[in-house]
Amino acid sequence: MTDIAENITSLKQQIPASVKLVAVSKTKPPSDILIAYNTGQRRFGENRVQEILSKKDLLPSDIEWHLIGHLQSNKVKFIVPFISMIQSVDSFKLLRTIDSEALKINKKIDCLLQIHIAEEETKFGFSMKELDEMAESPEFANLKNVIISGVMGMATFTDKADQVSMEFKYLVNCFNSLKNKYFTDVPEFMEISMGMSGDYNIAIREGSTIIRIGSLIFGER
Ligand SMILES: *Cc1c(COP(=O)(O)O)cnc(C)c1O
Repeated sequence: MTDIAENITSLKQQIPASVKLVAVSKTKPPSDILIAYNTGQRRFGENRVQEILSKKDLLPSDIEWHLIGHLQSNKVKFIVPFISMIQSVDSFKLLRTIDSEALKINKKIDCLLQIHIAEEETKFGFSMKELDEMAESPEFANLKNVIISGVMGMATFTDKADQVSMEFKYLVNCFNSLKNKYFTDVPEFMEISMGMSGDYNIAIREGSTIIRIGSLIFGER
């Protein structure tokens, strides 16, 4: 048995109060989420739209849902009404779709720009070149219903702490560069989401403001 309540409580004792914890509940049943909720946890992360939709109505409405997985533009409309943050914005097209769906219901959606920092080819995310092109385009200036709140990244899945550390440093550099170039007047651009069960200590050391923890809380998937 995984003691979810104990895991989450001890994790919170270890991390600085300034670092936000997103409990990643993908593949886990609503009953597990409720145990975490009852310890006071409110931010939960899921990577699939269908799964979030099927769980959220069974759970308290003050849960802050974060989407952390690749999102297809045609599914944006299903989550915009309730999502708290979309951490996995990985294309300009997706960002524009979020903006237009949010406009329809007069909402503003917090978004993180996912940046490709890992060695692996398979991980989604922007390159810095793509981000510069996006941020300098006139269409970007016209977005009104997305709040760009920072960046998100996933390090390579490896035991090599040096490499993970370097990749997180790179993400922090990307954040600082974007902040200085395009977001100096945007106080909301302040989040660096990095760190999972295997590498959150390194991430915090490198300046993470949001960690996304699944298996360490809910057990192996
Ligand atoms: C699954 C997932 C996590 C959590 O992974 P754990 O190793 O179980 O902590 C974090 N971020 C993203 C984007 C994920 O898909």
